[in-house]
Amino acid sequence: MKTYAGGCLCGAIRYEITADAGPSRVCWCRDCQRISSNGTVNVIFPSEAIKVSGTPGRHEKTADSGNTVTRRFCPACGSHLFSDSSGRPGLTVVRVGTLDEPSSVRPTTNIWVASSPSWACVDQSLEQFSGPPAAASPAKK
Ligand SMILES: [Zn+2]
Ligand SMILES: [Zn+2]
Repeated sequence: MKTYAGGCLCGAIRYEITADAGPSRVCWCRDCQRISSNGTVNVIFPSEAIKVSGTPGRHEKTADSGNTVTRRFCPACGSHLFSDSSGRPGLTVVRVGTLDEPSSVRPTTNIWVASSPSWACVDQSLEQFSGPPAAASPAKK
């Protein structure tokens, strides 16, 4: 298993992960655009493998799928770090830009491409889904 470390912009929230990285995707859903101003680059880990220091703020939102998505962010600097979905229990999405070494994972897929802005830099060499990824769960965001 590998280890990963990361944290928010100001350093109030830090995390360590001991696990092999799961799927990594670029998400162009409108919710991701609102929190990041662009697509978010995400990687999935087992929730239990993530040890967080500091106390993130939380925001819950019902997704188009009907699932409840809970996003965690630094209450001091606002950096978004994690996202959990009721449709994906036991797995947590980590924002790749918060890793100390963001090159340690590589996205393979673009999802929700249909809602990307006309100027988006969508890597055409990656797998594309106009909405959620077809495999696994239709509820991924
Ligand atoms: Zn912070
Ligand atoms: Zn998204």
